[in-house]
Amino acid sequence: MNSTENKLKIKDLTRSELQSYIIGLGAKKYRADQIFNWLYNNLSEDFDSMQNIPKELRQLLNEKSIISTLRKINQDNSTGTLTRKFLFETIDGKKIESVLIPDNDRNTLCISTQVGCPLDCKFCATGLMGYTRNLSAGEILDQYLSTAKEYGKEKITNIVYMGMGEPLINYEATEKSLRLLTDEMNEGITRNRITVSTAGIPKRIIDLANTDMRVKLAFSLHSCFEDIRSKIMPINKKYSLAENLKALQYYANKTKTKITFEYTMLKGLNDREEDIRALAKLTSQLHSKINIIPFNSIKHMDPDGISGELEPTPLDKIYRFAEKLRERKVTVLIRDTQGDDIAAACGQLAIKN
Ligand code: SF4
Repeated sequence: MNSTENKLKIKDLTRSELQSYIIGLGAKKYRADQIFNWLYNNLSEDFDSMQNIPKELRQLLNEKSIISTLRKINQDNSTGTLTRKFLFETIDGKKIESVLIPDNDRNTLCISTQVGCPLDCKFCATGLMGYTRNLSAGEILDQYLSTAKEYGKEKITNIVYMGMGEPLINYEATEKSLRLLTDEMNEGITRNRITVSTAGIPKRIIDLANTDMRVKLAFSLHSCFEDIRSKIMPINKKYSLAENLKALQYYANKTKTKITFEYTMLKGLNDREEDIRALAKLTSQLHSKINIIPFNSIKHMDPDGISGELEPTPLDKIYRFAEKLRERKVTVLIRDTQGDDIAAACGQLAIKN
């Protein structure tokens, strides 16, 4: 471990933790708010640029803590679309990806919460990579702050916690990063433009509902049937769909937000007439909408396993499927497969070492 790794990552602290830390260094509490302003509104990456902070305090901060936790080491630009995929390296040499997806007047940044992912969803390249470690709050946030610094803060209108990893397994860091993003002093993105996507950890869905943050929640559904969901998402054997639906109902009621169901279309597995009926029933019971995601094959990563068997539903069938849902008064969106030429589309993030 080098000396930088030993230092405090200052963006791992919420504003109240930053206040305690600054008081502990012998400075006045209001200095913490000034530093917060430099970090999150001016996107400062250097204590010495914080001109209204006394020199002695800046020196102490330089000795004991660091600001930037990530270094961008590569960028892939999709041809034909403006999608960008960023590869970041952490201080301890781990690699993670984030994706910037422009769509009309919105630019959505998809960020990671773990290095790899332990959940092994069969349609997901990250799952096949395995799991290395959780990201800290600062590392989660720095994907946004470093991209905002490069492109301009106003250019990123939405954030989705939908990159590598399951945010609610890394709950503490995820919650802390959300708290920093939605802090009243942070002039960035509003809470209704932040979405956390989960494969379903019921207790944590309830914990998140009980915070005051009221961010949007997306749930990786992919099948309304427990046996099929368990086949493609092993986590369903531990936390069943039924248990998750109760937690989602709680979330929707408590936060007064609409749940988004993510639904990756898999040929013969979840694109049948009975799936349409089950989806219509499910969405009639919960304030929700469905995001249909065309599947990007990952056969090359696991030719002999379940992942290798999964095939995409043809696009014309996806349109008919969506139409039949709309006839049953279900709100449905079909997500664009932007960025599949650079493996930046949903479920394709995986680091090639
Ligand atoms: S879909 Fe999400 S939760 Fe499932 S393996 Fe991929 S990154 Fe993990």
